[in-house]
Amino acid sequence: MITIKSQEEIEILREGGLRLAQILTELASRARPGVSSAELDKLGRELAEKNGDRPAFLGYKPKGVKTPYPASVCVSINDEVVHGIPSGEKILEEGDIVAIDMGLIHKNLITDSAVTVIVGGGRGEGGDKDGKNGYSGKNGKKARALVDITRKALDEGIKVALPGNTVGDIGYAIEQFVRPFGYGHAEGLAGHGVGYKVHEDPFVPNTGKKGDGPALRPGMVIAIEPMLTEGAGKVVFDKDGYTVRTKDGKRSAHFEHTVAITENGNQILTKTVN
Ligand code: MG
Ligand code: MG
Repeated sequence: MITIKSQEEIEILREGGLRLAQILTELASRARPGVSSAELDKLGRELAEKNGDRPAFLGYKPKGVKTPYPASVCVSINDEVVHGIPSGEKILEEGDIVAIDMGLIHKNLITDSAVTVIVGGGRGEGGDKDGKNGYSGKNGKKARALVDITRKALDEGIKVALPGNTVGDIGYAIEQFVRPFGYGHAEGLAGHGVGYKVHEDPFVPNTGKKGDGPALRPGMVIAIEPMLTEGAGKVVFDKDGYTVRTKDGKRSAHFEHTVAITENGNQILTKTVN
């Protein structure tokens, strides 16, 4: 069932979305060589709770999974596409592509957002002697292109998230934008309605046909989240039941915003500046 949020609820989602955007900005800046994904998770939880909010993914049990999600943040590194479980043993290295995804419960309403960063990117240096790895090596340049196009693909999806359009229009816009670059779309994974629950209807695809699926209406709140890979879109689940990685081992990137459909357009709720 697709739910419609009131103006008052959208205001609360905007407050929460702003807080979530600030947390993600902080986590992204802390994704440096030598830092573990567990440290990012711990910080994410602390920043949420400091303001009286709660991480939405902690203890969340998606359909078909036996155990609740054990962390506050998803940290997905390189070939991990989404839902990477943070660990003290996962230590970030120069040149890693790191997707940081978090949901926040603020006054009982949920926003969901993700960013991808390249470790060491802030310094604009690094790279090993043979010029392949690290931020400035050959693989670093490829990583920057992947991350860039994924961010832009999200923008393209948001542009057509308008009242009267359908969720298929969003998928179509993202797919058409991405096609010339040759990246894969993580199969079976998509955006979703959000707000009262972590995952609500409708399914918001990253590929598709114009006019397909439910129409967007003012008051709908959806998470749009392209997940692109350097290879094919086939993905596999780890034994932990959560971590999704590319089958061919190629790297991936993920960006996500929570967006409210308004009378005459939309509002991105998970941004620091609007
Ligand atoms: Mg998310
Ligand atoms: Mg999501």
